[in-house]
Amino acid sequence: MSAPRSIPVTTPGGSYEILVGPGLVHTVGGTLARVAPGRRAFVISDDNVWPLYGGDVETSIHEADIPYFSMKVHPGETSKSYRTVAEIQEMMAGAGFGRDSVVVALGGGVVGDIAGFVASTFARGVPLVHVPTTLLAQVDSSIGGKNGVDLVHGKNLAGTFWQPLAVLADTNCLTTVPDTEWRSGLAEVVKGALIGDTGDLVALDELSGRVVEREPVAVERAVGISAAFKARVVSDDERESGVRECLNYGHTFGHAIEKELGYGTLSHGEAVALGIRFAIFLAERIVPCSDEWMRRQERLLDAYGLWPVRVKLCPRTLLRTMHADKKSRANTVRYVLSPQPTQCTVLSVTDDVLFEALDAWFTRIEEES
Ligand code: NAD
Repeated sequence: MSAPRSIPVTTPGGSYEILVGPGLVHTVGGTLARVAPGRRAFVISDDNVWPLYGGDVETSIHEADIPYFSMKVHPGETSKSYRTVAEIQEMMAGAGFGRDSVVVALGGGVVGDIAGFVASTFARGVPLVHVPTTLLAQVDSSIGGKNGVDLVHGKNLAGTFWQPLAVLADTNCLTTVPDTEWRSGLAEVVKGALIGDTGDLVALDELSGRVVEREPVAVERAVGISAAFKARVVSDDERESGVRECLNYGHTFGHAIEKELGYGTLSHGEAVALGIRFAIFLAERIVPCSDEWMRRQERLLDAYGLWPVRVKLCPRTLLRTMHADKKSRANTVRYVLSPQPTQCTVLSVTDDVLFEALDAWFTRIEEES
């Protein structure tokens, strides 16, 4: 096994290392012994991931002589609830876990968000180690300490900031990720390339064909680049008060169409990619833009196979949904735009301007189809 790439994260809430490379699920036990010595491990996974990688993790923890217990949740977003968190914490308490525990999250972003919330609130907070298994979780959700569960009124409306002690991103796990989930991760990789620095953009541009084909060495490099970008952003801004807001590039529109079309109609990645395309369209209408840069953004989306999907929605309804987003303020929506290379900016866009842009966007789509 080649040495994994090590990426530091430094925040007021905690400093830790992200390791990226193949075979890291076999090192979970050793990592726990190093970062959380003397603690009992409670592993949270889901019914898809556990049969694939649970055995390797179990063996590794067993070999490190660490007492452990595991629990699997039902896969998918519906598990991200207070109910699941309560069930897990009851299970932990019933199995005699207390302040001497460490929680291990083995799975995608859903498992990571649930486990993060569990760890931050069980026994007033116990340590956490992430073992992310989807592309999205490896480049995005396991980094930065955000977690959350969904409420009836919307996604991720309850949660905490709770930094892990370590993140082990085993790129071998990505070979089994279903295509739709893969594309969701690719959208985050492209987003990072577009709002990050020029070196990352050039590298991810060059890697695009091989990453789309899931060529292992290219995937490992891309995960390393994208995870390092997210690590830099959250290190600068743990609580999302400034630069971290730029990570929402493509997401305001993306979340709104996901919700309006009904979750699952479009993949999250397709929705975010469309959101980036709309952000380009909006930027060209309201701020000075580099035409070359706008076309380059579209070419990168194309290169990662994130083609425009034709959707038709009522602009008025979409606007209302955007307002329900926690990032909006009265009569304006906070919108992330990238008008110039590597220049990301957050603007408060008024409802009138946004409505006109949405209307023009959907009219254009209709004319083109
Ligand atoms: P997910 O966790 O639902 O996983 C997608 C599917 O793939 C699931 O069915 C899962 O069982 C399966 N799976 C996971 N790893 C696999 C593997 N290696 N092989 C085969 N199947 C595998 O989805 P996701 O896209 O990873 O995460 C989405 C969630 O992440 C959302 O709830 C979102 O809100 C959250 N999120 C959180 C943050 C954050 O900062 N906390 C950031 C972005 C997204």
